[in-house]
Amino acid sequence: MSFAELNLNPAVLRAVADLGFERPTAVQADAIPAVLAGRDVLGCARTGSGKTGAFLLPIINAIADRPRGVTRALVLVPTRELAAQVLQDFRDFARHTAVRAAAIYGGVAPGPQADALRRGTDVVVATPGRLLDHLRNGVGRFDALETLVLDEADRMLDMGFLPDIRRVLQHLPARRQTLFFSATMPPAIRALTRELLTSPVTIEREPPSTTPSAIEQAIYPVAENLKADLLVELLRRGDIRQALVFTRTKHRANRLADRLAAEGIRAARIHGNRSQGQRTQALDDFKAGRLPVLVATDIVARGIDVEALEHVVNFDVPVAAEDYVHRVGRTGRAGATGEAFTLASPGERQLVHAIERALGRKLPRRTLADFDYNAAGRALEVPLAQRIAEIRRRKAEDRARAEARRQRRPAFAGSAAASPAQRTFDGGRPAGRRRRGGRPRVGAAAGHGRS
Ligand code: AMP
Repeated sequence: MSFAELNLNPAVLRAVADLGFERPTAVQADAIPAVLAGRDVLGCARTGSGKTGAFLLPIINAIADRPRGVTRALVLVPTRELAAQVLQDFRDFARHTAVRAAAIYGGVAPGPQADALRRGTDVVVATPGRLLDHLRNGVGRFDALETLVLDEADRMLDMGFLPDIRRVLQHLPARRQTLFFSATMPPAIRALTRELLTSPVTIEREPPSTTPSAIEQAIYPVAENLKADLLVELLRRGDIRQALVFTRTKHRANRLADRLAAEGIRAARIHGNRSQGQRTQALDDFKAGRLPVLVATDIVARGIDVEALEHVVNFDVPVAAEDYVHRVGRTGRAGATGEAFTLASPGERQLVHAIERALGRKLPRRTLADFDYNAAGRALEVPLAQRIAEIRRRKAEDRARAEARRQRRPAFAGSAAASPAQRTFDGGRPAGRRRRGGRPRVGAAAGHGRS
């Protein structure tokens, strides 16, 4: 099937041609006629299937020749990254039309977003929480809304957005078209679709727990302490040129990025503790090819669109098989090929087996030739129990030293300079490091100082 057969208007077709899209993806071929016909759609589609075009192209098409000034479509998404991505795709698809969109998400100033809502921007792409903030302030009118899209609905539920979604729904007309996209269809999602959709056209191109066949997947069994060395080696040898690397925690993401930097490998990090500006910059640098490595936590596993991304590396084995499918979905998008490597320590063997059960097949094991698998290596982080034991030991030593000092002190300290009052006055610092003027740092001296 060609795009021309889809009854899209010439301005939309021109945009698609500009992007070099030759034919609709399977999801687009199924969804676009249904959306144009005004039907509700239930799409079981992962990122990379072309689902964004599947809902944006017919929405833009429907609005293109209509009067401006009222919001006609609302797209709810789980993360700000996905909101920014959908907005970017919108701009590409709508470039030859007068249709406009705005993205509404947290972490940035609300003022310009409120202006866009007040103007009645044609298409609003929003995360539920921030949109609700605006609605609570009386900003945003959706009485003329025609189409609601829930994108990555499973993710929104995972992130606990269901109550917010329900509150947003109260501000929307009951009579509307609803398009529901989800990579997986667990029972909670099925229940929500029954509630929100009327006689939907169901598009289920791929079984939910499979990864696209264009992606080569491999497990690299390796000791926990050698994971960073193995990754460095894969990058140095050119087995991996550019990769999105996932870690289990923000802390590990930070430590790994530092470790790569120490090895002379440029890496940015992107996780929940990074500001929006930092995240956007890291993504831009990565997409532009200026950075070989982007280290990320699962929060960004969906919603990042990195075209022609060659490698995804699971530095830690994902705890949920479903997360594995989503992470691996970053690569090999829309027909491109990619490789997904998972570094698995002996302690993660069970998790690997669970993923293989979900995929219904065993993943190949690979070893890197001439890599010293017996080296001692260096742990990325000191295990929590060990860190706690170390803190306890230091505290016990401090207490013992303080006690020893107390016992050595004569019964009458003699001079006022040695008195606790004087120590407080000095802020507890050695004489040579006293602050100028000898003024007390009250908080620190009183033991309230924050480290
Ligand atoms: P998503 O919409 O997130 O599933 O991502 C689809 C990816 O494939 C994006 O990089 C799109 O630019 C690209 N894409 C979407 N539709 C097509 C198409 N018909 N032909 C080729 N690439 C496409």
